[in-house]
Amino acid sequence: MTEPAPVALLVEDNDRNRKLATAVLEMAGFDVRTATTGQGALDAIATEPPDVVLLDIQLPDIDGVEVLDRLRASAATAGLCVVAVTAFAMDGDRTRLIDAGFDGYVTKPIDVATFAATIRDYLTDDGRSS
Ligand code: MN
Repeated sequence: MTEPAPVALLVEDNDRNRKLATAVLEMAGFDVRTATTGQGALDAIATEPPDVVLLDIQLPDIDGVEVLDRLRASAATAGLCVVAVTAFAMDGDRTRLIDAGFDGYVTKPIDVATFAATIRDYLTDDGRSS
C-alpha cells in the first residue's frame, strides 16, 4: 500500500537553500519541483498544482505574501497547502504569516532533521480540514 509521492513545489531564489531543501525533501520521499521567482511559482502551479507549496517570502519579483494572496483569490488554487519558509525570525512573524493565510511556517536555515516531517504534518493537517 504505497501512496504516491507527495508533490512539493519549492519556491526559493537562493541556490544553496534550494538545493539543500530539495535534497532533504527528496530523501524523505517527496517529488520536488522548484521555482526561483513568484511568477515562476504561479506559472508552475497553473500548469500542475502540487500537493504542497513551500514558499520563500523574499523573492526577486513578487513577494511570497503576494503570491499567496493570488493563490487564495483563485478558486482553482484557493485550497492549496502553502507553507511559508522564511528567514524572518522576529517575534510576531509567525502570527503575521499565519494571519496572512499560510497553512504553516518554517524558519530558515531549515533543520534538516525535522524539515520534511514538519511539511508532511502540514499536508496531513490540511487534508483533514478540507
Ligand atoms: Mn529569498
